[in-house]
Amino acid sequence: MNADLNEDLSARAASPTGDPFLLTPGPLTTSSTVKRAMLHDYGSRDTYFIDLNQRVLARLVDIVNGQDSHTTVPLQGSGTFVVEAMIGCFVPSQDKLLICINGAYGHRIAKICQYYGRKFLIQESSEDVPIDVEQLDKTLEQDKSITHVAAVHCETTSGILNPLTDISHIVAKHNRGFLIDAMSAFGALPVDSGSVKFDALVASSNKCLEGAPGMGFCIARKEALQDTKGNSPSLSLDLFDQWTVMNKTRQWRFTPPTHVLLAFAQALKEFDQEGGVAGRGGRYRSNCGILVNGMRAMGFKTLLADELQAPIIVTFHMPADAKFDFNAFYNHLRQQGYVIYPGKLTVAESFRIGCIGRLGADEMKGALAAIRNTLDSFGISGRIT
Ligand SMILES: *Cc1c(COP(=O)(O)O)cnc(C)c1O
Repeated sequence: MNADLNEDLSARAASPTGDPFLLTPGPLTTSSTVKRAMLHDYGSRDTYFIDLNQRVLARLVDIVNGQDSHTTVPLQGSGTFVVEAMIGCFVPSQDKLLICINGAYGHRIAKICQYYGRKFLIQESSEDVPIDVEQLDKTLEQDKSITHVAAVHCETTSGILNPLTDISHIVAKHNRGFLIDAMSAFGALPVDSGSVKFDALVASSNKCLEGAPGMGFCIARKEALQDTKGNSPSLSLDLFDQWTVMNKTRQWRFTPPTHVLLAFAQALKEFDQEGGVAGRGGRYRSNCGILVNGMRAMGFKTLLADELQAPIIVTFHMPADAKFDFNAFYNHLRQQGYVIYPGKLTVAESFRIGCIGRLGADEMKGALAAIRNTLDSFGISGRIT
């Protein structure tokens, strides 16, 4: 019903609300019930809304088992807003951040530091290589001026899984602060605040938690957050201030994204019904397996070996076959109801297909059938090279 009026819906796959399936890194396909939860207007001082907000924040800190030691501070905006807020608050101007980079989201943290004039250095590896923990150990041993380390859990640029627990152990051994961009993995890959020591972890409403896009959140160690007073160079991104005001008044500073929160509360209910991180991660692993096996059977090659692949988004090498044109491929798939994503790599020509959002085996198989159709329509029969 939301679809383009000129589009022939009977010709393509669609979600229950008539939308194409989003096999992307976000925004993602959401359930009908999550979308329906947004059909209400609440004022920011409404007690129903205030209670729902508190429940959402408490459930999020629960996901890392941090009820006593940690707290959730929400923030309006896309995921990058809360990444920026985390850097601005947790890395004061006299401190120095080591950024572990193996993709665009790591580079984005460096860019934020440049905007804010924060001191930083980088440890970079190729987009298809996980963060090197031994090198991190050596750098922290040698450079005592480094106060914090930042890393991305699943680098969405390639879909690679970084060794978060090992990194956290090294950072903790050297007694530095650890800041995590867990945006694309939170809710699907476990992070336990008892075994992964961190000062702050950020994620958003619309990736693996399958809510509507529009807010991020920072799960912070309370003692570390307490020390961030006055650090933020930005008023609207000041997590300490947001936390302090919310503790006092139970309200957001500035207009809360009420509809996003209504959707988020419903999304978290569905997350619990699915069995939390284990259930959600299990469905995504199954999606990823179906996708990778089906694509390989058609001749496509993944960028990453299976042991480096997070079950979030898969990068495929661009086929060399002259009959394969990515724009035509993308458009054919879109017409059949499946939206994929261009590549973002610097190391190779590529495209990406996501496994996250409200998608299951049927949608992954449907997408594979649409891909087969598309290859056939290009005159590519059998395996592509
Ligand atoms: C999606 C994502 C972000 C945030 O991106 P926005 O477009 O601002 O929502 C940050 N880091 C990672 C790893 C991501 O996947």
